[in-house]
Amino acid sequence: MKAALLREYHSPLELVERPIPELTRPDQVRVEVEGAGVCATDLHAIEGLMEPAGVSPPLVLGHENAGRVEAVGDLVSTVAVGDPVLLYPPYSCGLCVACRRGNDMHCDRHAFTGLSVDGGFAEYVVVDERSLVKLPPGVEPAAVAPHADAGITAYHAVRKVAHLAAPGTTAVILGVGGVGHIALQLVRELGSSAVVAVDPNERRRRLAEELGADTVLDSAGVVDAVRELTGGRGAELVLDFVGSDRTHADGLGMLARAGTYSIVGYGGTLSIPSAAMVGSEQAAIANLVGSWTDLWEVVQLHGRGRLTLRTETHPLDAINDVLARLRDGEITGRAVVLPG
Ligand SMILES: [Zn+2]
Ligand SMILES: [Zn+2]
Repeated sequence: MKAALLREYHSPLELVERPIPELTRPDQVRVEVEGAGVCATDLHAIEGLMEPAGVSPPLVLGHENAGRVEAVGDLVSTVAVGDPVLLYPPYSCGLCVACRRGNDMHCDRHAFTGLSVDGGFAEYVVVDERSLVKLPPGVEPAAVAPHADAGITAYHAVRKVAHLAAPGTTAVILGVGGVGHIALQLVRELGSSAVVAVDPNERRRRLAEELGADTVLDSAGVVDAVRELTGGRGAELVLDFVGSDRTHADGLGMLARAGTYSIVGYGGTLSIPSAAMVGSEQAAIANLVGSWTDLWEVVQLHGRGRLTLRTETHPLDAINDVLARLRDGEITGRAVVLPG
């Protein structure tokens, strides 16, 4: 089969011919990949920053995968050959305390398709039956592949703070990229805040408008703009999908008293005097992907037409061009490669 291999850090992915992966346990499933989303985490992996998450080349990247079941082990009972499925990327054992609490992403035996084991930038991928979410009728796998990571990450983060998005409050989305453009819709879907979307890129600001943001702002001067918009109060909720030093400073700078700053994008360093946090009773929280049920719920919302995914599709052969465009900030929404 065709696959895009991370052979070594800081170099383009190599398009190689590999054997089709075999099932090694009876609870496994082989999926023919119809779509694989391309994520900033793939860039981090190529840059050698994802070893804490288990990356060790050679490795097939690709963690936002969807396709059709092509082979099943003897113990598999919930899916059959031909079923359209999304692949929940974290491996979860189902037996540890974290799994039994529903926090699959904190599983004691954590693994991650496309980071610690071979992923979906290939024609086939093997995963556990537990990782699959069956798609509702009428939903094409390639069209929803980004939900496997971008979708659940957005959902997990928004659902965690949805009770704070009361009428009369303001929620700010910093960064309307692959994850942010989904989160923007989820804040509207799960909460009642006025939604402010912030992005330095004009195409992404237009997308935010199309997706129903109440106010769309450029990143330049955004702290003052949000203060002005809220009568000086600031935003009760700030969701940061960028995570740079700059957005950390902006996010904290625009936060209202008793507000919550929620971090999804990462890379910068959060720096705030504790006296300032205590004095204004502010909270800073972080989010790591989401649970299997988060993904199942995202798929239900999508199936009912309540979520729009902005995607562009490319053949697997174009993966290095797509990664370069993502690095340069030229993708609007999510790019999906089609290995099949
Ligand atoms: Zn990702
Ligand atoms: Zn577990």
